[in-house]
Amino acid sequence: MPRYAYVNGRYVPHNQAQVSVEDRGYQFADGVYEVVAVVNGRYADLDRHFTRLDRSLRELRIPWPVACPVLRMIVDELVYRNGVNNGTVYIQITRGVAKRDFRFPDNVKPALVVTARSQSRFATPQQLAEGVAVITIPDIRWLRRDIKSVSLLPQVLGKQCAAEVGAFEAWQVDAQGFVTEGCSSNAWIITENGVLVTRLADNSILNGCTRLSLLEHAATMGIACEVRSFTVDEALHAREAFLTSATTFVMPVTRINTTPVSGGRPGPITMGLRDAYLNALQDKTP
Ligand code: PMP
Repeated sequence: MPRYAYVNGRYVPHNQAQVSVEDRGYQFADGVYEVVAVVNGRYADLDRHFTRLDRSLRELRIPWPVACPVLRMIVDELVYRNGVNNGTVYIQITRGVAKRDFRFPDNVKPALVVTARSQSRFATPQQLAEGVAVITIPDIRWLRRDIKSVSLLPQVLGKQCAAEVGAFEAWQVDAQGFVTEGCSSNAWIITENGVLVTRLADNSILNGCTRLSLLEHAATMGIACEVRSFTVDEALHAREAFLTSATTFVMPVTRINTTPVSGGRPGPITMGLRDAYLNALQDKTP
């Protein structure tokens, strides 16, 4: 089946999809994005992703390139054309194409790219059976991490450091020693008393769509939750630890740097939350 991409009004073969060298996303990282999972033909948290996209665009004063319902139709069409039953949709909006100048250009149309790809699985059996390792690194990012901008260089460097030591993710740590978030995921622990802890979603982290859904599931399941920061040391002594994102859902963390956490095994509360999240996706209409 040929793969298509959507680029500024046209569905084109994926391998021929191109943007201008003067796209401000390319020159200034002047754009935002979203990644949405498709699980058994259903979108995961699509409305939340659209709401966050709207927020990111507003914060950067980039207009919507098409109306929100039209974007939804483009996403549907691309998923259909690419035969994606399980996989991911990537949406990127930049301020547009203009002669290189830092200031906002006049009369420029924002540029929209949507891609979709199939994925046979979102996690390996080993990752789910054994959990994953994270490393900790200083958080060197800007102070508007609440905006899902395409400026991801610190995360590129962090993920590379993690990969080089065989870790799945790097948890970024602020100047006070508190974990902010992963390079592409939110960070969570469960304390000795069984309390779920995740950081307050202010400008210091991206408010994950998976995070928001999971907070609702935890409440439904009667799991006590504290929205507050935790240190690396607290995480090392936690009963369980995990990370969340649109493409990993809930992933157990069983090693931080070289120290085993959660007894070195995925914890029952973590896996219960993962099941709750995935089961709820199947209950939704496509
Ligand atoms: N934090 C960062 C920095 C991310 O890049 C992501 C992934 N988009 C997340 C958190 C998790 O967000 P979501 O659950 O919406 O994928």
